[in-house]
Amino acid sequence: MEKLAIFGGTPVRERPISYGRQWIEQDDIDAVAEALRGDMITCGPRIEALEQSLSQITGAKYAVAVANGTAALHLAALAAGFGEGDEVIVSSITFAASANCVLYCGARPVFADIDPQTYNIDPESVERLITPRTKGIVAVDFTGQAVAHDALDRICKENGLVLIEDAAHAIGTKYNGQPVGSIADMTCFSFHPVKTVTSGEGGAVTTDDEQLYRKLMRLRAHGITRNRSEMAHPTDAPWYNEQIDLGFNYRMTDIQAALLMSQLRKLPRFSARRKEIVRRYDEAFADMPEIVVQREIPESDTTRHLYILRLNPDRLTCDRRQFFDALCAENVRPQVHYLPVYLHSYYERLGYPQGLCPHAEAYYQWSMSIPLYPAMTDRDVEDTVRAVKKVAAYYRKSV
Ligand SMILES: *Cc1c(COP(=O)(O)O)cnc(C)c1O
Repeated sequence: MEKLAIFGGTPVRERPISYGRQWIEQDDIDAVAEALRGDMITCGPRIEALEQSLSQITGAKYAVAVANGTAALHLAALAAGFGEGDEVIVSSITFAASANCVLYCGARPVFADIDPQTYNIDPESVERLITPRTKGIVAVDFTGQAVAHDALDRICKENGLVLIEDAAHAIGTKYNGQPVGSIADMTCFSFHPVKTVTSGEGGAVTTDDEQLYRKLMRLRAHGITRNRSEMAHPTDAPWYNEQIDLGFNYRMTDIQAALLMSQLRKLPRFSARRKEIVRRYDEAFADMPEIVVQREIPESDTTRHLYILRLNPDRLTCDRRQFFDALCAENVRPQVHYLPVYLHSYYERLGYPQGLCPHAEAYYQWSMSIPLYPAMTDRDVEDTVRAVKKVAAYYRKSV
């Protein structure tokens, strides 16, 4: 057996590779430079063009570009009307922002457990948590795989709930042929550099509902309106605008919009490459009892953002930390997505107990994300496969 690098053996590769990174090319740089020469470098024509482009890609009637994915979630939660005394059911395996947006509005996040095979929010867990105070659901397309819309949409309809889809991982994904972004009441995207396409920082909310759209647009810019029909004191004075809500400055710049427009043109290529890498990993790990491969539901045509390597504790003599450290020493640097949100100490102080979502906690204990991004070469992919196989062989438990 090959000696692991962590014990002084030769690493599988010389240069470290991380779990994700952006892919910026010359045309992206040119697009940004051109935007910088324009008359308006924020809230100008590129924002409108970007919003049209996002509507087209997602099939949603309206898109609102914002400063980042967290701002998108915050505005969506406010537009949904979440507030004091309300409960909102949230996936437990997600980035903290999916739940923080509920707290921002003064409502209470209630954490649902995950499906142990897909790692997405489990509709049965959601149903058990519904009370007369429940107002909505924040469901995350974890790793890019669409949530179980058939079940969630039925639950929302039966109980009058607002569905906010956190699609930070899922631009390019389709559910039963329909693009993510046009299915939930509101869908939130992030364009952070590790996500599938980037604007440096950036986000968007898509919706088909005109009322929600107007509210989102207003809240993005201080709650100020120029639309006379919305004013308490309409006048024909050309300078007059009126603040009618407490909003924010969550605008995206035209510089960022230019970068994102350029990146969105590459979405089909990025998406195809991600799918290709996922197929290679799935095939390489399929016959390894040490590794559990994420289940894909047939409804979701997934542009995968993360590749989850889930260890099978019954077939390994090591724990997650040892496996993680051994991979790092081979120069393949994983990351863990995510600590169940309610286990963050901030949430612990709010009174959420350990053991709340058993499937989420079991998932967390044995999982990590291995490199997945479109600029990976075939060599990078094969190095990653070799590193995983090498570490798994070393720690294999004889049964
Ligand atoms: C990245 C991410 C966010 C937040 O997006 P930002 O653009 O970083 O604010 C929210 N939810 C999920 C699931 C994410 O992965």
